[in-house]
Amino acid sequence: MACAKWPRRQHPAPAPSAPPEPSRTLPYPVFETKAFARAVERGTRTRTGVPGPKYWQQFARYRIDAELVPATSQVNGRETVRYFNNSPDTLKTVWIFLNQNLFAPTAPRGESVPVTGGTEILRLAVAGQALARRDTGVAYSVDGTLMRVGLPRALVPHDSIDFDIAWAFQLPPDGAPREGTTGDVFMVAYWYPQLAVYDDVTGWQIDPYLGVAEFYMGYADYDVNLSVPQGWLVGATGELTNPNDVLSPQTRDRLAESKRSPNVVRVVREQDRGAGNTKATRTGFDGVLTWRFRARNVRDFDWGASAKFLWDATVAVVGDRDRDGHPDTTAINTLYRPEARRWSWDRSAEFERNSVEFLSNYLWPYPWAQMTALEGPVSCTGMEYPMLTCIGGPRDTLSLFSVQVHETGHMWFPMQVGSDERRYAWQDEGLTRFNQAQGMHWYFKGYDREKISRDAYLALAKTDSEVPLMRHGDQYPFGTPAYSIATYDKMATNLVALRALLGDETFLTSYRTYGLRWLEKHPTQYDFFNSFNTLGGRDLSWFWRTWWYETWTLDQAIGSVSVSGDTLRVRIEDRGLAMMPVRLAVTRADGKVERIVVPVDTWLAGTRHHTVSIPGAAMITAIEIDPEQIFPDIDRSNNRWSKASP
Ligand SMILES: [Zn+2]
Repeated sequence: MACAKWPRRQHPAPAPSAPPEPSRTLPYPVFETKAFARAVERGTRTRTGVPGPKYWQQFARYRIDAELVPATSQVNGRETVRYFNNSPDTLKTVWIFLNQNLFAPTAPRGESVPVTGGTEILRLAVAGQALARRDTGVAYSVDGTLMRVGLPRALVPHDSIDFDIAWAFQLPPDGAPREGTTGDVFMVAYWYPQLAVYDDVTGWQIDPYLGVAEFYMGYADYDVNLSVPQGWLVGATGELTNPNDVLSPQTRDRLAESKRSPNVVRVVREQDRGAGNTKATRTGFDGVLTWRFRARNVRDFDWGASAKFLWDATVAVVGDRDRDGHPDTTAINTLYRPEARRWSWDRSAEFERNSVEFLSNYLWPYPWAQMTALEGPVSCTGMEYPMLTCIGGPRDTLSLFSVQVHETGHMWFPMQVGSDERRYAWQDEGLTRFNQAQGMHWYFKGYDREKISRDAYLALAKTDSEVPLMRHGDQYPFGTPAYSIATYDKMATNLVALRALLGDETFLTSYRTYGLRWLEKHPTQYDFFNSFNTLGGRDLSWFWRTWWYETWTLDQAIGSVSVSGDTLRVRIEDRGLAMMPVRLAVTRADGKVERIVVPVDTWLAGTRHHTVSIPGAAMITAIEIDPEQIFPDIDRSNNRWSKASP
């Protein structure tokens, strides 16, 4: 709409002289949130990426008894939880996740899911006092996937309080994210009332579980007793502590053999299986057996069960975990239905052993006594839980190894390095996608998974649909690839770029150090940035700002090439908004390739072009920017000049 009152220009514009240097957008620094700055002041965090001297986190001890009733898909459970308040704060309210309420009829959610009843709370007592369901005061209330519990007495610093909760739910059918039942396999995850995280930066992090964004979980000890029909096999987080009570002598003998043999041992075979069949298990009282599992200082406990499972086992060598000078081992278990052989599952134990061994070597030794890969509902796709993965759907060998090494990679991030997946999904998925690529490159001898991520990112970056990766996992546009591209593929591509910026050795040392610093802790995005800034010995603010907070793209180009005497003058143009160093390859007639790097500071000074002068012009046959395609350049058609086709 025109505005009649707008003043008319009184003077003609000045005549143009030499065109000014085009001004460009410069990446501004990454700003801390007030909450992080406060944590630094209080000494729980630092600006070097090291946990602060006063770092604390909460802790809990769960004891859970649960039974699976396969005929109705019902899970009935009762738990006692001792919750330790290591914070300096007095808590009057505690928040507990009821993740099964994602499937309740009225729960808010970010995607369509099968509807069951959600979690039914049968009893809740705190410090021995049974609480009523009420919205305020000493009582509990439920809203979607969250339960608020008003405590009967304040939980002061360095004290603990006990919860006693009985509950029941119906496991959703296949189609539920990350869990569910096909009718013959039951993947039971996000299944028990679990304390929300209260941390030193945010306090209670109670963003609801809406189905898309994943989890943020505190560390805890678990003693879990799972009752299932005899003849059924269970795969779970933790170590089985009563094998003599539940496994048949034949199964125990074969498991023992798997510890001695260099080969994969078929522990439970087709003829050993089935409900009521006790070749694989013992006979249970009333046909039920109780499997006891124990796990220490882990983020979660999950399990799967089936009467149809085959069981393969072997051992992985993980390196010197306890630093006694000798290599340590981890038991590898895989559970799958016979029909999954056509999806390569008869090779899953070999794949799992290779995944654990590769990642133990690339990062640091796998810390636990066992690792289980379980074949489950299609909607598991590939999902990780401590010491356990659930993988569903048709696969070939490439796809099965790919998803196994990815999900196994999650045993490091976020299982050991416990970041907030819900708010910062890149902090586990992007790192894991990158680690997956390293594993595939090693196992398939040169397979380039990094390129697949880079191409996927570039395809979206060429549209208007890209969304910055520094975004809450539940706040990406629905039904688009924006979440997965940002979180997985762009972030993996960023790590490839970071490795090139720092050099392989500094990168890998910094990467491992970041992980080990935050082992069994809760790093934020600043702890990640600050670790690389200090360990890499330079301020990478421009890099974080560009690739984490913006959707700027990189377009480095050879603008023109001219000869001046004996010198070839190459005008490099930086046409995109994103900046990176320019990795130039100069090829001469004798085939020799010289590498020249234009530092990123050239662009950070505000210019958009830079001329490189190279002596010996007559012998130069080709110039190319970043021939290895390390950086995600959005237009490669302008990256190369050659004498034959100037
Ligand atoms: Zn993942």
